[in-house]
Amino acid sequence: MIKNTIRTFVSRLFAAPVPKEKRQVYSQAQHKIDRRLVSRNAIKVCEVLQQKGYDAFIVGGAVRDLVLGYEPKDFDVATNATPEEIRPLFRRARIIGRRFQLVHVVFGQEIIETSTFRAPSQGDQHTDADGRILNDNVFGTQQEDAARRDFTLNALYYDPVNETVIDYHNGVADLKNHLVRMIGDPEKRFREDPVRMLRAVRFASKLNGTIEPGTQAPIRSLAGLIKNVPDSRLFDEILKLLTCGNAIAALQQLRKEGLHENVLPLIDQVLAQPGGEQFVQLTLERTDQRVRAGKSVSPSFLFAALLWRLVDVNWKKNLARKEHTVPALSQAADLVIDNHINKLAIQRRHTADMREIWFMQPRFERRIPKQIWRMTEQPRFRAACDFLQLRAACHEFDSVLAQWWMDLADAPPAERTEMIEALTAEQQGTPAAAPRKRRKRRSNPRKSSTGGSPSSGGAPSTPPQAS
Ligand code: ATP
Ligand code: MG
Repeated sequence: MIKNTIRTFVSRLFAAPVPKEKRQVYSQAQHKIDRRLVSRNAIKVCEVLQQKGYDAFIVGGAVRDLVLGYEPKDFDVATNATPEEIRPLFRRARIIGRRFQLVHVVFGQEIIETSTFRAPSQGDQHTDADGRILNDNVFGTQQEDAARRDFTLNALYYDPVNETVIDYHNGVADLKNHLVRMIGDPEKRFREDPVRMLRAVRFASKLNGTIEPGTQAPIRSLAGLIKNVPDSRLFDEILKLLTCGNAIAALQQLRKEGLHENVLPLIDQVLAQPGGEQFVQLTLERTDQRVRAGKSVSPSFLFAALLWRLVDVNWKKNLARKEHTVPALSQAADLVIDNHINKLAIQRRHTADMREIWFMQPRFERRIPKQIWRMTEQPRFRAACDFLQLRAACHEFDSVLAQWWMDLADAPPAERTEMIEALTAEQQGTPAAAPRKRRKRRSNPRKSSTGGSPSSGGAPSTPPQAS
């Protein structure tokens, strides 16, 4: 197989030259990329490869971001060197991938993913009955590499050494117009890889732009092909969609394109729950804000929040059957995770974190000084406090009490001790011991509840147990 790949690679090196008129080259004065936004390590990889006589460019999302003036979050490099040629040029580099090998060049925390130009599979390509590509394992020329990329705005090559951008598909113009246009025949390319439909929606939402009409046209009728996508890949894509910085627009567009039922059927169920719409809306708004501020979003927090109304409603049902708080919540969490989340292929570590966030919620109800320290030591304590803010914003938890917990999460250890001592004093009826700046707490926070959540309306008479 390797022999074959090398043979194809060599034959493609001598393939017909690129027609000059199709290839646009933009100078720095035209594309205006600020070189300070480019990773030094990505520049280094390109420099080293070029010094050895290879072509090497920064590609993909990084170029898209750079042309728009944003700082990319990661950098990919494409080159005509093969993985075996790339690896020995760097001190820390490893070849990864079985189907299509590429090289991870490692610089401390940063990994520059370096791949060899790839050709779209032809003739001998393997597709399933719906046209989905199962094997595209062939090295190619730069022009071929551009043609097998999905959208014109994703097929740009930036040479950080001479600072030019090479564009085979008019991608710079589309990018400036925020237009997501498929390279080649849209229907064929969506069939080859149905995830491209979700990518189209994501890029259009992220750029506040539109999907070009010819690209958009076949999506509705092909939406059902999403079911052929492996669960783990679908999950990765959903996560990217929800963290594209414009999640609300992305979900609206998914719905408009008919992709919604195959991608996030769960969200519909959540929206149908009492208070579901408000909770989802607020979760996504806050996620968008974090993404736009360049902060990270944890998948477990996001999914814990998106699914909370479903968990909460089931919890309430269990409580109505006179079950105790913790087993009632545990059963509700199991039900949601078993019936719904597992279909999404969320990794186990995420579901464990989601449980921790959910299970901390009843423990915020009653502030029991002896237990508070232990709570603060749990790894998800801060995330659970953040989650509590969401619940407070949706009026299902007292906002003053929620703020007390947030202050505690933010406080350094000495101040935490002070806050807990002040609370103990308050609960023992010796308010004089409390520090002056202490926040006033409502006498019965549950009275403020509007949602009637079990965690706020039907609180247990016994303190909840540690999860
Ligand atoms: P982001 O990193 O924000 O997800 P990206 O465009 O960099 O955006 P990647 O998944 O990192 O997306 O892929 C890098 C590049 O590889 C893309 O820009 C595109 O050129 C190409 N690519 C990725 N997925 C596909 C696909 N399904 N079909 C064709 N080309 C793809
Ligand atoms: Mg990328």
